[in-house]
Amino acid sequence: MRQIKGREKTQGNSRKSFTNAKERKGRIREQESAGQLNNKAKTQNNISLSKNRIKTEKRHNQRMAKQIQKSTVEKDRILPEKLIQDSTVWDTIIVGAGAAGMTAALACGKEKQKVLLLDRQNQMGRKILVTGNGKCNLTNFAQKPKYYRSDCPEKVQKVLSVFGQKEAMELFQSLGIYTKDKNGYVYPYSEQAASVREAFETEILSNPSITFVPFSEVYNVQKKEDVFLIKAKEQLGQSEQSTGKQGNGEKIEKVYRCQSLLVTTGGFAGPKFGCDGSGYAFAKVFGHEIIKPLPALTALKSSAPFLKKVSGVRNQAEITLEIDGEPVKKETGELQWTDYGISGVAIFQLSRFAITALEEKKKVALYFDFMPELSSKEKLRLFLMLAQNHKKRDMLSFVKGLFPAKLCPVILREAGLREETLAGTLKEEEWNALVMAVSHFPLRINGYMGYEKAQVTRGGISLTELTGNLESDFQPGLFFAGEVADVDGTCGGYNLQWAFSSGTVAGRAIVKRNQELFKDDRHTMEENDGISERNRRR
Ligand SMILES: Cc1cc2nc3c(=O)[nH]c(=O)nc-3n(C[C@H](O)[C@H](O)[C@H](O)COP(=O)(O)OP(=O)(O)OC[C@H]3O[C@@H](n4cnc5c(N)ncnc54)[C@H](O)[C@@H]3O)c2cc1C
Repeated sequence: MRQIKGREKTQGNSRKSFTNAKERKGRIREQESAGQLNNKAKTQNNISLSKNRIKTEKRHNQRMAKQIQKSTVEKDRILPEKLIQDSTVWDTIIVGAGAAGMTAALACGKEKQKVLLLDRQNQMGRKILVTGNGKCNLTNFAQKPKYYRSDCPEKVQKVLSVFGQKEAMELFQSLGIYTKDKNGYVYPYSEQAASVREAFETEILSNPSITFVPFSEVYNVQKKEDVFLIKAKEQLGQSEQSTGKQGNGEKIEKVYRCQSLLVTTGGFAGPKFGCDGSGYAFAKVFGHEIIKPLPALTALKSSAPFLKKVSGVRNQAEITLEIDGEPVKKETGELQWTDYGISGVAIFQLSRFAITALEEKKKVALYFDFMPELSSKEKLRLFLMLAQNHKKRDMLSFVKGLFPAKLCPVILREAGLREETLAGTLKEEEWNALVMAVSHFPLRINGYMGYEKAQVTRGGISLTELTGNLESDFQPGLFFAGEVADVDGTCGGYNLQWAFSSGTVAGRAIVKRNQELFKDDRHTMEENDGISERNRRR
């Protein structure tokens, strides 16, 4: 027995007899045909796409389909005798115990719903450990719609208006997470992401309504007779960090059943933390559209030969992103030069736009202003003043007084200046060239780092096909929350905020749904009892 916590009580078949099952099936059929009509309209629109874009899209979709398939394909054959039917009909099963799944579990558990929380990892909330460089940037006091991107921004705002930053702070407090405000960026007071993960875990494991099963890899979901069937491969081999228990290495396959299903499997980002896009495959089973997933908040690649020489340098800059020669976005922050390209929070913020442009085969370049606090005139005045005092200094030593040493030869080359030229001998146009080089230093971008390095996945399950409570338009009782949905936030606590908000909103809606089903169910049972009572009397 490897379930860590919770009750297990068979409820029999009574819950299956829903009075309005026919009605609900009708709704699905209507919505499915609406979905087909939508698809037709989409096909018409697609005809107008250029051939190139279609090819790129096809290639990407094939890659994605392979990845999705890989995530659901059976990796090991499981002997039939190891196939175990779980006898419980759970109120709710949550697939994926990340930030969204854990928050949803708490929302359901609070209302004494019988919740089964499954995760393929050895412990819940593992990705949280690496967030905010191990400090976990929980949320941000600055909340504006522009910090969240989605195909349906109004639905994101609806969710955030129900459970936003203020409510998240209350949740942290209730979990015993005391927070710290760093210029609006909220961190745990301990500045240790582990304390956040543990606070969630402690609360979940102490709730008898919630059962957490680690090492449980869900590979198939379906709905039969108003009940969801969830198939998972489980391995009892590795030590379970949550309990310290050691399994016996046995591989089993389990079939679970539930009334409501919440998918919180994240996207593709952070594959080390169990994310392989399997939630998209589950959504597809029920006819959902997946908005093309792409890495976001990631480093950018360049083939500039000087990168090997400047790798490891960190410096401040204002960065302008240019697409096809047009400046489109600016960010200021620390640059982290690497041998493959450029990284750092400011680059992450720009990466979403750069990646879109690269995918559309547009020309992408970054321009750096290494002294953004000074105008070009002020820079020139400063250089001339310094040169006045250091006429005999060669230009390499001169610029080393201003910029990181490894970057100096590269700056001089960009300005067309020789390292050994003496500062006192430079002509005015040469000083202007230096001003230009440090104000508008170019880096051509030709790629981006993949999901291993990306903090989030943009794209995912379209919010246009989910209700305001994140329930599927096509399949009642099926919910999606967190990164698996097509929402990605800017860097600064917005992605975790979305996970907490969407997890809670979905969790609360599930509670409501299950309670209504239970009422329906009781009603049916009472009606049936009434009939049998009348029959008995006859
Ligand atoms: C390095 C890094 C740093 C970050 N820093 C921050 C930050 O400081 N602030 C911020 O706001 N955001 C940050 N993020 C983003 C943030 O962590 C995510 O957006 C957020 O955790 C998403 O939560 P989620 O619950 O939707 O998904 P996840 O946290 O990805 O959880 C999904 C869970 O589902 C499980 N799972 C997946 N498929 C299956 C399956 N088939 N069967 C069983 N289990 C499955 C996985 O094991 C995983 O535990 C960072 C991300 C990374 C990678």
